[in-house]
Amino acid sequence: MADVTCGRCGMGEESMEHLLASCLMAHTVWYVLVWIKIPFPHGDLSFNMLWHLLQNLNGSKVWKKLVAVIFMATFWQIWKARNVKEFEGWNIPMLKVVEEIKLNLFLWISCRSQFKALDWNRWLDFNLQDVIS
Ligand SMILES: [Zn+2]
Repeated sequence: MADVTCGRCGMGEESMEHLLASCLMAHTVWYVLVWIKIPFPHGDLSFNMLWHLLQNLNGSKVWKKLVAVIFMATFWQIWKARNVKEFEGWNIPMLKVVEEIKLNLFLWISCRSQFKALDWNRWLDFNLQDVIS
């Protein structure tokens, strides 16, 4: 029988729920929420908790769309890091995963959206209130 233990933390069965939310590694990456100034939920993270958070955001349509893109990019980057561990055998440091999320999002949003004049330093502070209302 195949070993289904999480290869990243070794502390749980690797399911989508575990991989994307409740794994200690994913939990660390989800501090992305602090970067985008959304209070970090108390207790263990779950996919449902993250989904509920995303569905109940306050703010404009554009703001909600931006946060949804950030959530999707975070899921994707966690998945990529998992695959590097699974298929290449090494762990990407969690801080590096978070840096990749910020960098990729900056490139995607500044190249593919109406926010062409996005400033890198303001992006790092997520100080965008006057740009995205
Ligand atoms: Zn894990």
